[in-house]
Amino acid sequence: MNDLDGPNTMKLHFSVFLLVAVLFAGCPHGPPKESGQFRQAELVELVTLDPTIRLDIRYATTNNFLHRPVYAQSRAFLQRPAAEALMRVQRTLNPKGYGVVVFDGYRPWSVTKIFWDSASAEERRVEFVANPRKGSRHNRGCAVDLSLVDLQTGAEVQMPSGYDEFSKRAFPDYAGGTPESRALRDLLRAAMEAEGFAVYPAEWWHFDYKDWRQYRIMDVPFEAIGK
Ligand SMILES: [Zn+2]
Repeated sequence: MNDLDGPNTMKLHFSVFLLVAVLFAGCPHGPPKESGQFRQAELVELVTLDPTIRLDIRYATTNNFLHRPVYAQSRAFLQRPAAEALMRVQRTLNPKGYGVVVFDGYRPWSVTKIFWDSASAEERRVEFVANPRKGSRHNRGCAVDLSLVDLQTGAEVQMPSGYDEFSKRAFPDYAGGTPESRALRDLLRAAMEAEGFAVYPAEWWHFDYKDWRQYRIMDVPFEAIGK
């Protein structure tokens, strides 16, 4: 009898199977499989649509909650209908003396996975970071993180909290802070809501475009998206 076909080999196979099963359950190796009808992706680079859109892509720098860059390029994209809606937001805000500054738009799924793996248990519990098993609306190219710039000074305005601040001050209905900062936060929100974006209840800077369900989770790196 050949040992390789004996019960020990069977046991080994079973152990390997278990190990693989545990690894996959605890740490997904790719974006979730989604069934159903989806629209064709058409990611548009925001500055090509409107060069007056300001960018402050924190995840391409060390100035983010991970203190290290997770994007190789400082670029921002949204699916075309969301990108065009954001251009209309810009045109609404400009006569009031403000413009938008974008921190993040489309985010490849593997970056969401990096966020999840780096987050604390509490950050995961309150969904400060998206669970990669479900993906983020950023992965669908239909979420944008942004703030306002004062067109006179060119500076980012003071909001009730900083971007990616994990606190009550980040809630869009937080009643503290200065009246000016609350008014600016509410100005941004009203302009975004008028164009089909909804604010995330724990982050004044995060908005989901109404059609997000129509787009798949994507994992295309910025470098692979044409100029
Ligand atoms: Zn966001």
